[in-house]
Amino acid sequence: MIAKLRHLLNYRMAFSSWLWLYALSMITLVVLSLLPDLAANTSGLRYSLPFMIALVALALFFTFTTIGYFRSFMGRIERFAQSVAGGNLQTPLPRKLDQGEVARILNSLNDMQAQLRDTFLHLRSEEQSNALLVQAINQSTSSVMVTDLQARIIYVNDAFVDNSGYQREDILGHTPKLLQSGKTPPEVYQKMRALLLQGESWRGELINKRRDGSEFIETVTITPVRDSDGAIYRYMALKEDITEIRRAQDSIERLAYFDPLTDLPNRRYFLDQLNRRIAHGKRHKGTFALLFIDLNRFKEINDSQGHVVGDQVLMQVAERFAAQVRSEDVLARLGGDEFVLLIDETEPDLIMGLAKRLMSSLRYGVKINAGSFEIGASIGVALYPRHGTNSADLLRHADIAMYESKRGQGKMVIYDRAMSEKVEREVVIATHLQAALREGKGLILNIQAQVNLATGALSGAEILLRWEDELIGAVSPADFIPVAEERGLIATLDRFVIEQSCLTLAAWKTQGQRLPVPLSVNVSMGLFEEVDFIQWLQACMRRHQVEAKEIELEITESGLMHNPAKALEVSAELGQMGISLAIDDFGTGYSSLSYLKQFNASKVKIDQSFIRHIEQDARSQTIVSATISMVRELGMKALAEGVETDAEAAFLLQQGCQHAQGYKYARPVLLSEFANRWLPRH
Ligand code: C2E
Ligand code: MG
Ligand code: MG
Repeated sequence: MIAKLRHLLNYRMAFSSWLWLYALSMITLVVLSLLPDLAANTSGLRYSLPFMIALVALALFFTFTTIGYFRSFMGRIERFAQSVAGGNLQTPLPRKLDQGEVARILNSLNDMQAQLRDTFLHLRSEEQSNALLVQAINQSTSSVMVTDLQARIIYVNDAFVDNSGYQREDILGHTPKLLQSGKTPPEVYQKMRALLLQGESWRGELINKRRDGSEFIETVTITPVRDSDGAIYRYMALKEDITEIRRAQDSIERLAYFDPLTDLPNRRYFLDQLNRRIAHGKRHKGTFALLFIDLNRFKEINDSQGHVVGDQVLMQVAERFAAQVRSEDVLARLGGDEFVLLIDETEPDLIMGLAKRLMSSLRYGVKINAGSFEIGASIGVALYPRHGTNSADLLRHADIAMYESKRGQGKMVIYDRAMSEKVEREVVIATHLQAALREGKGLILNIQAQVNLATGALSGAEILLRWEDELIGAVSPADFIPVAEERGLIATLDRFVIEQSCLTLAAWKTQGQRLPVPLSVNVSMGLFEEVDFIQWLQACMRRHQVEAKEIELEITESGLMHNPAKALEVSAELGQMGISLAIDDFGTGYSSLSYLKQFNASKVKIDQSFIRHIEQDARSQTIVSATISMVRELGMKALAEGVETDAEAAFLLQQGCQHAQGYKYARPVLLSEFANRWLPRH
């Protein structure tokens, strides 16, 4: 009962009821206070009754107006509250009163509305930016993953779903271990854990796997997320799939460091490794060897068969070489047909063994679809630190040694200081010769008569080139011809001499001085190896109206043996054209009898080293007489070179040698001098 009453008193009683109760209790009090007066003196009622009625009316009037006033006030507050509840935070309550409780209530309500408005606006902008953030994270192309402190995944964005192949329901609640491929080094995870435990961010690369098992590489930044008190409660991982970038980088790196044709390291990689070994050698007193390998006759294959075949040959050669070296050796292709090899051994015998293996790996030539090709290698070696302490010196010296190897009989050559001086001189010769050929300056044809030994009559004539350079003076053909051969100038030189010889023949003809014998012109294998040689020769002869029988080409025996297959091919073509061939310096070039027969030469010139003092040298006598009879048997003419004395001539004549060339009969002279002496005018 008391509780009910309290409840009624506290909450249920309307404010107007209170006022009614108050008015009634006032009236009751007035009536009660008047009751004794009424009982004691009835006449008093006359005066007190109107007063009492007025008092009651006044109480009722106050009660009514107060109720009316509070009703309207409360109604306004109610409507205001309803409008605020309906979301209107803009219209304030009119403030009719400046002071008093009601004004304070109204002011407080207006303040409350303003406060609410601010909070609402703030919340709304926060909500908008939160929505934007969520949208941005969700639509980001980078994968985002959020975990709780136990590393359980509680959020992943769309990019994560797309990249990993996991649906949200598959991954939420799991730990990121699900993504591990096992390929990321354990130290990476250790470092990650250590940093995160310290409350710091971690950034690194992980090799993860997708749902389908495929691997991918991603850069990951994991940042601890803190609550308003600063305590870590989440970890956010921002991930970028870099698999494609890494793949592109790898291929760029491969392109930068590897030769795409042979798959061997390229020059750049090799120089890197060389410099590294030099640095290591300097620190630890280490030694190593640099082998410079150059292919013999590659240019010819490339020129005649085209680059596609040339490339296939290089690929096979690279494979053969690679099979001979160990994994710690560095085999690289410098470019063209040049290869280099770095090995730790510096013992000449060991290097020799390896060089032999490399050379004999090409022994049977290379076989490709287009056919099989004979190919060889020349190898020059420079040792660190003996032959150089920097990459440039080592490479240059190995290259010089390689040139020596090319000159020799296919043997590996270790660099020697004397080679450098020779090479320096050769470089000077090559540069000046190139200029001389370009400008046609300082190059003069000489000619030397060949005679019939028995009669002394003119039986041939050989063009011999002379060169006197403005700056370096006269250089002997014995010096400049080998340089021209090695440095790729010989074909140009030979074409120059052939052209000049044809011009000479034509000039003599117009002067009525016909040469009764073929004019011999020296050529080198380098010219035979030129793809267009035969066509060019035909065109040249047509240009100067020179007939095939008017010229003869001389090629050294060693030149022929350098590339017998090509020599046979060209000699056959020359034979068809009707141009005769002479084998020069015979006896020095290790040719076989079978080749000699096939070469289809008309003349064999026995080298002057066998003729010199032949009357006193039994060994030379045997060789020369055997050669003469063999040559005659094969249906060719024998000519002895460098005949200087009567004794030499007498011996040769006695052996049945038909022809001779030498100072005894004639020295090489200017064309005009030769013409005056030997050419009858018609
Ligand atoms: P080769 O073709 O064997 O020429 C003969 C060489 O022997 C010439 O030397 C000639 O001057 C020399 N000679 C001739 N008779 C005697 C003699 O009785 N005694 C001595 N001691 N020497 C004699 P040269 O002119 O110095 O030429 C040297 C080599 O240079 C030539 O040897 C030839 O292989 C090469 N050569 C010269 N001119 C040309 C050319 O135009 N083209 C090419 N490819 N090679 C050439
Ligand atoms: Mg000659
Ligand atoms: Mg000769």
